[in-house]
Amino acid sequence: MSVLEEILKTNENFCKNPPVDYSGEDHHESKLPKKHLAIVTCMDTRLVDFLEPALGLKRGDAKIIKTAGNVIVDVFDSTIRSLLVCIYELGVKEIAIIGHYECGMAKTTSESLTKAMLEHGISHDAIKMISKDLKEWADGFQKPEENVAKVVEDIKNNPLIPKDIAVHGLMFHPRDGKLDLIVDGYK
Ligand SMILES: [Zn+2]
Repeated sequence: MSVLEEILKTNENFCKNPPVDYSGEDHHESKLPKKHLAIVTCMDTRLVDFLEPALGLKRGDAKIIKTAGNVIVDVFDSTIRSLLVCIYELGVKEIAIIGHYECGMAKTTSESLTKAMLEHGISHDAIKMISKDLKEWADGFQKPEENVAKVVEDIKNNPLIPKDIAVHGLMFHPRDGKLDLIVDGYK
């Protein structure tokens, strides 16, 4: 069975016997994050089904935006766009940038990505179009803790983000679930 077939089969059974019935839930209300919180974190697989319980977050509590290495590259980056919707449409008042130890982005370089793209048949011309951005993004990420502090600063200094939004920075241990405070956004 392929992964897709497995997913579709599982979903069929899930819908026949859902563990929780959300069909009566208030549709509008459930879209608004109860804790007025948006989290920007990494796409790392070890965080799946682990980060939320470690933070005590339940369905409806927070908006969670995931990217490779929770990096923000510029003032109108797609993560920033999502945060603007969170703040201006969905009542978010606090943002938590949650990086994690052992983040794969620290090992990813523009060189390794370029090499892999060429091996997959991507043309030099196509790679050339993104080479400057690729370098800034992939080579700019050295230490996950430093990236968290930088992203917090970038969001605080972003002219599109209002000053009354608290921006916290944290680091997560993907093995034991411990959270370390890097930047307290209330101070
Ligand atoms: Zn990561």
